[in-house]
Amino acid sequence: MSQSSQAIAALQEKLIAKDAHQPEFLQALEEFLPSIVPFLEDHPEYLEKNIVELMVEAERIIQFRVPWQDDQGNWQVNRGFRVQFNSVIGPYKGGLRFHPTVDLSILKFLGFEQVFKNSLTGLPIGGGKGGSDFDPKGKSDSEIMRFCQSFMTELYRHIGPSLDVPAGDIGVGGREIGYLYGTYRRLRGAEAGVLTGKGLDYGGSLVRTEATGYGLVYFVKHLLKEHQDSFEGKTVQVSGSGNVAIYAIQKVQEYGGKVITCSDSNGYIVDEAGIDLALLKEIKEVKRQRLTEYQKARPQAQYFEGSVWNCRSNIDIALPCATQNEINEDHADILIANGVKIIGEGANMPTTLTAVKKIQAADIIYCPGKAANAGGVAVSALEMAQNSQRLNWSFEEVDQQLDQTMATIYKTCKETAEKYSHKDDLLTGANIAGFAKIAKVMLAQGLV
Ligand code: NDP
Repeated sequence: MSQSSQAIAALQEKLIAKDAHQPEFLQALEEFLPSIVPFLEDHPEYLEKNIVELMVEAERIIQFRVPWQDDQGNWQVNRGFRVQFNSVIGPYKGGLRFHPTVDLSILKFLGFEQVFKNSLTGLPIGGGKGGSDFDPKGKSDSEIMRFCQSFMTELYRHIGPSLDVPAGDIGVGGREIGYLYGTYRRLRGAEAGVLTGKGLDYGGSLVRTEATGYGLVYFVKHLLKEHQDSFEGKTVQVSGSGNVAIYAIQKVQEYGGKVITCSDSNGYIVDEAGIDLALLKEIKEVKRQRLTEYQKARPQAQYFEGSVWNCRSNIDIALPCATQNEINEDHADILIANGVKIIGEGANMPTTLTAVKKIQAADIIYCPGKAANAGGVAVSALEMAQNSQRLNWSFEEVDQQLDQTMATIYKTCKETAEKYSHKDDLLTGANIAGFAKIAKVMLAQGLV
């Protein structure tokens, strides 16, 4: 065992003892830390200056009470959080998640990953994440509005266009960003650059809604191109039916691929003829209904309860776009049996560690979320740039920049992987490339 491996193993032990009650955060560290060892061998100064231990500690964590009134007049209370992980290359940037499972473990894992994802985009944005254990499901529009107003009544003190710029994530889309921004504006004035994912009429950017899903498909497109291949004629399995999933499906279909599945937290659709995107958008974006409605409207499709990763069908490419740890070891076995060749993560950490190991051992190309889903934050940074300029760029201009950014991220991951591991080990490539930049800047800014 090399000195660097020993140092990283000792650090991991220390962190496990410190944050034993934060399983998702520890999982993100376990996936990340061993993979940067080859780079640390070349750069002993980072271990000497203890940069890695500094980096795994968030710069600041804010937790607050969010009281709100439901439609029956009862007072409810939820927890609000903002994890400001690292700002050495720019203002904290990362989404807000509203979901009952939100806690510090989830937000620290997301904030930690966000630091390296944002670093990979090449744009001047630091990493953060926030949200609440509020469950938007089944709430009326008025309840959502009152909750968002209360949430921002505290959060506004801690964010700003040059300090921390939140966006959406699970449970936070255009509607919620609108209510959050309206409250911020009443308290602080019209600073459009404080949030991204805004409506087009008040500072939003074209392509932001599509960005994560499109970006994921662009990333995989560049990978396929490298292997003299394309999406044309490929069968694709997608999970989720939210923002990321819908626009990933749209772009795959545009490229001539056939997406045969989508899911929500109750079950999944298998539509061998290919997902009817207009119908899916109507159900999810307009009516906010469950996926069972899809099957009712399209009887030739099948609906099953449970995880979409139990689906047995021939698949070329899998795009998990729902949530963390949705693909476990058993699902990995099914994917291998289904003949999948590429897994591209639209969601953050959707694949458990043991599943990733199985997938890589089976020579399936694994595209980690922190690289493959960076399109959303990349376009958010373009939204910030437009807000500063007080200009709106065209759809084509933003879309082209998104495609170019994903091409660059793919190339960076691949070349870094080639140097420190092997060509298709994009996980090692992404982790080392993301880490190298942050570590260098931390040293340059004298943060040790
Ligand atoms: P949405 O809220 O729009 O959609 C989430 C989808 O995932 C829904 O279909 C939801 O089903 C499903 N889902 C959520 N939790 C679970 C669960 N525990 N089990 C099964 N299905 C679940 O979120 P997004 O599309 O924005 O985000 C999806 C993923 O992509 C997340 O991991 C997020 O962090 C990541 N991501 C998002 C970005 C963005 O720009 N939005 C940027 C980068 C990453 P249901 O409606 O039943 O809850």
